[in-house]
Amino acid sequence: MQEFRTPGMQDVVLAEKSLADYESVVGEDILAELHRMAKPFQGARVVHISSTAYGGGVAEMLHTLIPLMRSAGLDASWRIISGTDEFFTVTKSMHNALQGMDLDLTPAMKAAYLHSNVDNSVYFEGNFDFVVVHDPQPAPLRMLRAGDGGKWIWRCHIDLTAANETYWSFLRPYVQAYDAAIFTMPEYVKKDLQIGKVAIVPPAIDPLSPKNAPMSDEDAARVVSLYGIDPTRPMLVQVSRFDPWKDPLGVIDVYRAVRQRFPEVQLVLVGSMAHDDPEGMEYYQRTKDYAEGDTDIHLLSNIDGVGNVEVNAIQRMATVVLQKSLREGFGLTISEGLWKGKPVIGGNVGGIPLQIQDGETGYLVTSIEECSKRTLELMRNPVRAQKMGERGREVVRQNFLSTANLRNYLRLFSDLTQTRSAARPRHARSAV
Ligand code: UDP
Repeated sequence: MQEFRTPGMQDVVLAEKSLADYESVVGEDILAELHRMAKPFQGARVVHISSTAYGGGVAEMLHTLIPLMRSAGLDASWRIISGTDEFFTVTKSMHNALQGMDLDLTPAMKAAYLHSNVDNSVYFEGNFDFVVVHDPQPAPLRMLRAGDGGKWIWRCHIDLTAANETYWSFLRPYVQAYDAAIFTMPEYVKKDLQIGKVAIVPPAIDPLSPKNAPMSDEDAARVVSLYGIDPTRPMLVQVSRFDPWKDPLGVIDVYRAVRQRFPEVQLVLVGSMAHDDPEGMEYYQRTKDYAEGDTDIHLLSNIDGVGNVEVNAIQRMATVVLQKSLREGFGLTISEGLWKGKPVIGGNVGGIPLQIQDGETGYLVTSIEECSKRTLELMRNPVRAQKMGERGREVVRQNFLSTANLRNYLRLFSDLTQTRSAARPRHARSAV
């Protein structure tokens, strides 16, 4: 992945991906359906706008969705907004407040937020059939570019159920300027949101990306050994940004409880440092302090060279995958773990129950005690753990692969262009 600077926003250079390669995973019928749905949008100009090309679930998904849109014949691209440090501090507060934290929103914070958005909007160039703006950071863009044509979609990846009212009422008018909004679950849609269309689309993982592609046990064992992890010993794994909502300290407590019964257990916490996440480094340090120098707790990040292939290997070597989040919009790491045939224990919050069928593909938990108990249960029953993982892989195959994500976007594009007089995108080369 590479980015280059243009004033305001940066274009993200993307790898090429071919839809045909996915046939072996999802079958020919799904591919035929995708091509049929994409036919009216050949050449349609689509731009996705987000705040980072690296770290976190949004970036993870766009690195696949956009190449697949291209492979389906759309003229799709991705731009990253720029912003001052102050802007990213404000947007992190916004993220936390929209997930339910009680935080202030001062006039200076509003000004910093709008200031960077104005900068980005002024340098925004091009005409598009569809502009998809991800999350709150660039949300005001639609209002700031009110004269632009095309259909504008706001994709919210956050669980808004407990959103701080001050922040939401500040954001709401910007969101209402869009033609449509996408949420992960119906529960996340605020009752007072007035918008032309709401679509419910769960996120998805790419089964062929370096993070999820097949890997032999030998290779996975070799990779984890490089990081001082013993592939022959049981291992608990959580892959998540260092963030209080992901509860890495709670995961350490779970590990400590499990260690009482399984002294040979190891814990691997992998967390990337996203550039739009100024709290990350600070929380990494807190987690490190909490680990108190325990050499069986492995704290790893992109700074140690842990990238997609390493995450793949670590998830494959896990005895149990944990995602003990206290809030979670969706949690791609859950589908990633299930796809690798691992049982996943997750917090019973947000989008996690959408992916984990309690007692079937893993467990949903609400406390450290419950999480420890379920982890022990799975460690004592490897056959059951394996069966759960296998079932989980099928749930992911049916619901949470990138091909389903592409289908959901195409369906929304179709819905948006079939309403009223605009029967097809303005710049589409052909239409059915
Ligand atoms: N991730 C990663 N390295 C890390 C931490 C996270 O590659 O050190 C990836 C992880 O595998 C997943 C994404 O970042 O694909 C996190 O997405 P998720 O939806 O779980 O959480 P978010 O960060 O969006 O809240």
